[in-house]
Amino acid sequence: MASSTKPGAKVEPLRKARPCPECGKPSAREHYPFCSDRCRTLDLSRWLKGSYAIPVAEDQSKADPLDE
Ligand SMILES: [Zn+2]
Repeated sequence: MASSTKPGAKVEPLRKARPCPECGKPSAREHYPFCSDRCRTLDLSRWLKGSYAIPVAEDQSKADPLDE
């Protein structure tokens, strides 16, 4: 019985690691493009807040006094 060494060692090619858009750390594959679940949540909540921050065009100057 000859013990053969398996040449099929999994070699992962080094992709260009994108830094986490939240903190700039190298991103983790499972949380891509973020480095962690925390940063992903942070970014998402920030994005949600941003979408809610749409200024409401309220014309306060058009208040007509109805007392004649
Ligand atoms: Zn991060």
